[in-house]
Amino acid sequence: MTMSSAEHKEVVEFPANVNAGRSYFMRLIDRIGQRYDRLLVVARAPNASERDTNARWSCKCDCGRMVLAYGHDLARGKVKSCGCLNAERIFKHGKSRTLTYNVWKQIFQRCENPKSPSYKNYGARGITVDPSWRDFETFVADMGDCPEGFSIERVDNNGPYCKSNCEWATSKTQRNNTRRNRRLKAFGREQTLMQWVEEFNVPWDRVRSRLRYGWTLEQALTEPPLYERKH
Ligand SMILES: [Zn+2]
Repeated sequence: MTMSSAEHKEVVEFPANVNAGRSYFMRLIDRIGQRYDRLLVVARAPNASERDTNARWSCKCDCGRMVLAYGHDLARGKVKSCGCLNAERIFKHGKSRTLTYNVWKQIFQRCENPKSPSYKNYGARGITVDPSWRDFETFVADMGDCPEGFSIERVDNNGPYCKSNCEWATSKTQRNNTRRNRRLKAFGREQTLMQWVEEFNVPWDRVRSRLRYGWTLEQALTEPPLYERKH
């Protein structure tokens, strides 16, 4: 929106109602050639009806579509596009809202559903969720929408899911990728964690979480998992 009222002060005479074919003219602002956000006014358009004296203009939207708009709507910024602008906003909003909703659901899965595969690292470790976050809208009000490519992270890894302890962080996958390139020593040799994991044919997630809990790389690679040791 770069229009100021000074820019379209030029007033010309148009038929008051190009539909009606009446002989009287009224003075109105010539908007032809003026730009209102995505709309470029190309011509004076017929009025909506014989009784409607509000001037309408034929506009070409940046997306290529032609629309008719009332001059006063253009001037007040009520109309800025053929509708494509709004459609884009709704799409973006809807997309990020879906992301946010999925994150919100996952938090409760991790912390409160013992059947969830990640429960052992969250709920079982005493990680809780702020009770007010049971309401999705409160969660959104506190955190805002999840930016694309981000996930929710707790600042204090032992702290709860709540406003003061959470932030949107670039997704774990991305950070893992950089971690995968870090070279680690074990058995007197040095290679990337990915190469170690492949060499020992053990799950990446298992080794990574063991390292997080302070295991040595040797242990993390060779110790059988708990459920195998039980038998
Ligand atoms: Zn458009």
